[in-house]
Amino acid sequence: MSTAATKQDSELFDRFRSLGQETVYSEESCQHIEELVAEITALKREKNAVILAHNYQRPEIFEVADFVGDSLELARRGRDVAESTIVLCGVHFMAETAKILSPDKRVLIPDARAGCSLADSVDADALVARRDELRKVFPDLVVVSYVNTTAAVKAVTDVCCTSSNAVKIVGAVDSNNILFVPDRNLAAYVSANTAKNIIAWDGDCYVHHQIRPDVIRKVREAHPGIRVVAHPECRTDVLAEADAVLSTSGMIRYARDTDAAEFLVVTECGLSDRLLMEVPEKRFYKACQLCHYMKMITLPGTRDALIHGKDEVSLDREVCDHARASLERMIELG
Ligand code: SF4
Repeated sequence: MSTAATKQDSELFDRFRSLGQETVYSEESCQHIEELVAEITALKREKNAVILAHNYQRPEIFEVADFVGDSLELARRGRDVAESTIVLCGVHFMAETAKILSPDKRVLIPDARAGCSLADSVDADALVARRDELRKVFPDLVVVSYVNTTAAVKAVTDVCCTSSNAVKIVGAVDSNNILFVPDRNLAAYVSANTAKNIIAWDGDCYVHHQIRPDVIRKVREAHPGIRVVAHPECRTDVLAEADAVLSTSGMIRYARDTDAAEFLVVTECGLSDRLLMEVPEKRFYKACQLCHYMKMITLPGTRDALIHGKDEVSLDREVCDHARASLERMIELG
């Protein structure tokens, strides 16, 4: 077959081009992706595996994913599927969360080095020390941890929260004093929406924290009428410029359901790619940054994870049980 004839055969390239991705993917790279997708699809059947992918993953990962969503949606989906192996295309704390909710399933992550600056900003020993110190002043203090934390941190947490339910969870706990862990930006957002005393841990997501408000103002000047959606991990001065502050899945629903045709998406860049695929009739501008941890997950890595059964997530049973209790408390309160 001639090269020209082969190039015309890449349906994926046509699709990516219609989504404005032709500067990132060539016809040749799309053909290679299609071969890998076919290989991974066969391996999934052979290994009785399901692939769950986070909203921030590369577009080609969405091609092999059985489900795409935010971290808690992925963990819940993992719990409900019949397959015995979960391949989690996301970062390490997400794979741990899937393992917490599905302790008897095999959970694989294609690259165990895919960490998270936010999850890394708190460890369990430091959290216990800070909690005990604060309880001398506030005996009723409750620890609320964002799901972007390790299993060990969840295990010493009273109740977890997500970016979409954080305000609700804080309002529902039976205490006026909250140690909110680990994102200081999300803590500031929650604090602005509750009368309770929020004591913030000093952590941040390096991706969201580096976004500045002047980027939004410039885009608004150039595109009057554009809707700005921002993730609550962004700084307070960035959120002040937004029309809506939403989780990643909330942004997808908002883009689908509102009348606006143009959006500025203020979060990790992968979400803009997902929005383009999910709502192709609308236009999305990016005020985003790449998360290099998320981009460590690749199709060759996903294929190798299925072939070799690695990297497998393993958790201490007691840590797993305590961490699950803090997640279940969130579900109960939320
Ligand atoms: S985007 Fe931020 S919170 Fe999400 S994985 Fe990357 S560093 Fe962590």
